[in-house]
Amino acid sequence: MSALDLSIVIPLFNEDESLPELTDWISLVMDREGYTYEIVFVNDGSTDNSWQVIQELRTKNENVKAISFRRNQGKSAGLNQGFKAASGQVVITMDADLQDSPEEIPELRRMILEDGYDLVSGWKQKRYDPITKTLPTKLFNAATRRISKIKLNDFNCGLKAYRLEVVHNIEVYGEMHRYIPFLAKNKGFSKIGEKVVQHQARKYGTTKFGLDRFINGFLDLATLAVMGKFGRRPMHFFGAAGTLMFTLSIALLAYLGSYKLWALSAGVEARLITENPLFYILLAATIMGVQLFGVGFIAELLLRESTKKHDYTINDKIGLD
Ligand code: UDP
Ligand code: MG
Repeated sequence: MSALDLSIVIPLFNEDESLPELTDWISLVMDREGYTYEIVFVNDGSTDNSWQVIQELRTKNENVKAISFRRNQGKSAGLNQGFKAASGQVVITMDADLQDSPEEIPELRRMILEDGYDLVSGWKQKRYDPITKTLPTKLFNAATRRISKIKLNDFNCGLKAYRLEVVHNIEVYGEMHRYIPFLAKNKGFSKIGEKVVQHQARKYGTTKFGLDRFINGFLDLATLAVMGKFGRRPMHFFGAAGTLMFTLSIALLAYLGSYKLWALSAGVEARLITENPLFYILLAATIMGVQLFGVGFIAELLLRESTKKHDYTINDKIGLD
């Protein structure tokens, strides 16, 4: 059993103005509810006074803990590091910019403990962000819903709650923080819930993500869609595509060859095979087939050497340690 009721993991990059207010607000809610807790700040290479502010906050509040990166590594890296350090029975993540409200924490915690969710994601139903962000976000969520088959309205909400086991079993890398519910589901944590949360306009500082978030987000979604299904059996993906290519080229070969033979035997004047456009499709399909098989084979070799190939989540054991 974990000693602490809650770990609150907060990745931050240049948020010195928000931190004191955020810490006060969290401690207010925690003390009121009587929770034991830790606030785990992950300073993602801030170039302002964030780290000094955190050190100061620590002298006033023992529940403040922190990790600092030497340089900016991105929100995903921050969350991943914070997750490793967290030890509370329930783990909350939130943004440092005061856009998320700590008042939501008690209900999020209750949903994990009493309703049995593995993960509860916030839903900023009413958002206070510019339209350039809210509109593409709608598309992003619709695509993610379709591909992940998780019924969430707001995948990338910074405010989420997790059972401790979940955060200790997922790896958030690259910019995968947008898809944590998908990562969790791929690991078998499929009881995923949603709670409408209050959202506020940014009070201090500026957003850290530009429009490239949508391109990167799309590419990451493609990666996850394939990884979840074929991550441990890449040949089934590449081999299937390769086989398709070979089938196509064999069919074309049979067609071109038999036509030529028929033409010769019937005394009809036949074009050279190389003059038929289908011949070039045949060539391309053969080359692509070889390449797809090659990539599949290399992927299998890599996997065989990887220490992560047996890294699945074990739920329970009987009679074994
Ligand atoms: N963040 C971070 N590292 C980065 C970028 C952002 O730790 O490289 C933090 C940021 O300080 C904030 C959270 O991630 O606490 C969400 O960022 P932001 O509010 O800029 O995103 P938005 O609300 O605009 O989606
Ligand atoms: Mg924000």
